[in-house]
Amino acid sequence: MAEIVIKNLRKTFGDFTAVRDSSFTIKDGEFFMLLGPSGCGKTTTLRMIAGLELPTSGEIYLDGEEISQQPPSKRDIAFVFQMFALYPHMNVRRNISYPLVSQGMAKADVKAKVAEVANILGINDILDRPVGGLSGGDRQRVALGRAIVRDPKAFMMDEPLGALDAEFREHMAEELRALHDRMNATTVYVTHDQLEAMQMGDKIVVMNNAVVEQFGTPQEIYDKPATMFVADFIGSPSMNFLHFDGQIQKDSARVAMNGATYAVPKQHTDAGGKLVFGVRPEHVRLSDSGGLRAGVLATEYLGTTQIITLDSGNGELKARVDADQPVKVGESVGLDFKPETITLFDAESGAALPSALNEGVVAHG
Ligand code: ATP
Repeated sequence: MAEIVIKNLRKTFGDFTAVRDSSFTIKDGEFFMLLGPSGCGKTTTLRMIAGLELPTSGEIYLDGEEISQQPPSKRDIAFVFQMFALYPHMNVRRNISYPLVSQGMAKADVKAKVAEVANILGINDILDRPVGGLSGGDRQRVALGRAIVRDPKAFMMDEPLGALDAEFREHMAEELRALHDRMNATTVYVTHDQLEAMQMGDKIVVMNNAVVEQFGTPQEIYDKPATMFVADFIGSPSMNFLHFDGQIQKDSARVAMNGATYAVPKQHTDAGGKLVFGVRPEHVRLSDSGGLRAGVLATEYLGTTQIITLDSGNGELKARVDADQPVKVGESVGLDFKPETITLFDAESGAALPSALNEGVVAHG
């Protein structure tokens, strides 16, 4: 059992706030992603969970026990670093056994444990090789072995695949996820790569500027963004934003935008002023029915689909449509949207307006 509960966690460095009032729960056995752009506070959050950095305020619980101020050695959490920090003068076996030997474990037990870990990782045949000549993947496996061998309650991983090239990265991501599924150990994983987070994570926390913007499953984060930041950061191409001045009443399921009326999910509050109509490219339909019109600026052929760049009076947008739909640059097309996928945002705060679409969404910690 290794559940990690984060409550109002905060970290300041002098006047600078790196993490502001984060709260979320990492359930036992979850592969949990901390996602966000560079400098948003992901690594600082991870380091606080591992005990490498002490919080300025707030609490961290591991299996119900408060560990916020405990040193790393008392936390039973293993940290896997990006640059596969191995001991270059030792062979693979000694690198993996090092944490056990330094704990004073009996020789026979160490041998058995290393054999077990080598089996899990499929590296039996390289145990006696020096780490110096190993491939990137094998070095990564050895680094993981050194973390696994301790049987920690949880693993912390800080961009562990960051140094690998794209193809190999994808392979190692699959391997890591498969390893997690075999061991079922709680894992917290930092990445700035939204695709990696979506592919690997059971849950994702999206951070921006020291703040948790949203917390949920990959599907919730993609389909029900809590803020414009999340909608923009997740997905490629990202969500389209059409800016307009408008009014919408509680319980209404229609919105008027520049004289055109569109069906949207039932809204839970009144709203008005500067609003944003958010729609993902795959939910934009090109049609001849009424509504807004847009000029086709560009088409990009992707095999089964094509991405159409359009210029509407409310801003540029992208549509992902079937590759065989005939669309020509320069022509004018009507815009239609799948109503159940629309998110309306308040332009000033960037927050999604509450509606039937995003009930239960956890935003801002
Ligand atoms: P990256 O992927 O670039 O590391 P990150 O989201 O992991 O981004 P953090 O490393 O957590 O970001 O850093 C958050 C902010 O806190 C950054 O602006 C960073 O410069 C600052 N910071 C981190 N550690 C310290 C420190 N020891 N002293 C002062 N500022 C720090």
